[in-house]
Amino acid sequence: MGSIVERKARSEVFSLKPYVPGKPVEEVERELGITGVIKLASNENPLGPSPMVVARVQEALKQLNMYPDGACYYLRQALAGHYGFSEDSFLVGNGSDELLRLISETFVGPGDEVLYGMPSFSEYGFMARVMGGTCVEVPLKDMRFDLPAILDKITEKTKLVYICNPNNPTGTITSRAETDQFMKSLPDDVLVIFDEAYYEYVTDKDYVSGVEYLSRGRNVIVLRTFSKIYGLAGLRIGYGITTPEIAALVNRVREPFNVNLLAQTAAIGALADREHLQKSRELNLQGRDFLYREFSRLGLEYVPTEANFIFVDIKRDCRQVFQALLKEGVIIRTGDIFGYPTYIRVTIGKPEENQRFIAALDRVLQG
Ligand SMILES: *Cc1c(COP(=O)(O)O)cnc(C)c1O
Repeated sequence: MGSIVERKARSEVFSLKPYVPGKPVEEVERELGITGVIKLASNENPLGPSPMVVARVQEALKQLNMYPDGACYYLRQALAGHYGFSEDSFLVGNGSDELLRLISETFVGPGDEVLYGMPSFSEYGFMARVMGGTCVEVPLKDMRFDLPAILDKITEKTKLVYICNPNNPTGTITSRAETDQFMKSLPDDVLVIFDEAYYEYVTDKDYVSGVEYLSRGRNVIVLRTFSKIYGLAGLRIGYGITTPEIAALVNRVREPFNVNLLAQTAAIGALADREHLQKSRELNLQGRDFLYREFSRLGLEYVPTEANFIFVDIKRDCRQVFQALLKEGVIIRTGDIFGYPTYIRVTIGKPEENQRFIAALDRVLQG
């Protein structure tokens, strides 16, 4: 069966489903012959990167002939100062996507079980499958990670548990009590990865970061990224906070120059610009409240979010609504890929973008 080349590929390759990315603005404009398209599909920061970061990157362009610092020394130093962990507690990757891959390459082999909630970020399963691991997907309960149900699925073979907190695509968090209970009951040889890509947006007092468990000596990896609130998705840079022992293991499989020079420069600058961070956070809350009000006015139910996107039930086929919104020049994400065929996921944008989205949605739902 299959061609000669196909038979040469590892069997794991055939278990992979391609990632479904948000449609790029240029692609939609080209395909539909329209302009002025807005993208509310990939949870990017609508304010863009910090202007201070842009200036620093411009300056760094002159050094493009040089290899980047393979150890990301200055960034890890900045992160160490920021968090109060030692420099060797940090992992830096070409996006947190790369860190997910490196973690999988370090820990997962054939027969190993990897647990996570469903729906959640698709890369957990993808990277586990690449390594021949077995994915154990545990359905969400009331749109939230069901930690007791995940505990029930732990076996001798369990290697990794991913907790996406806040969860993508639902925007929900696990409470402190639930997470404490989970960590208390979990065998110590199971590694927990807290994916906190949207950490900076959280306002709920009941939230607990994986960093707290790390401080208490637990074997956890906390993943954060510069792609979301820091507005650097195009440069690809994310980081992990963990024990020096785990960091050293993961670093063994890392390529020597995995993080490019501009990304390192930008990340150091981004950490220093607290004002841009605060502005981004406030804009998000304002946009969130506007969209909540508008969804209610349209009679739509949404999942209250702790992130910069909202999962909303539009009560009809999401693919059709997606196509109709595209024609209106608005790109969103459909819920069918997450198993919710009447939901869409929309990124909270700038006020004018949110207004355009709502006006378009209103027309589409009427029509
Ligand atoms: C966007 C996202 C990431 C990936 O971020 P990069 O750093 O751009 O690779 C990781 N996890 C979740 C849940 C995300 O939504």
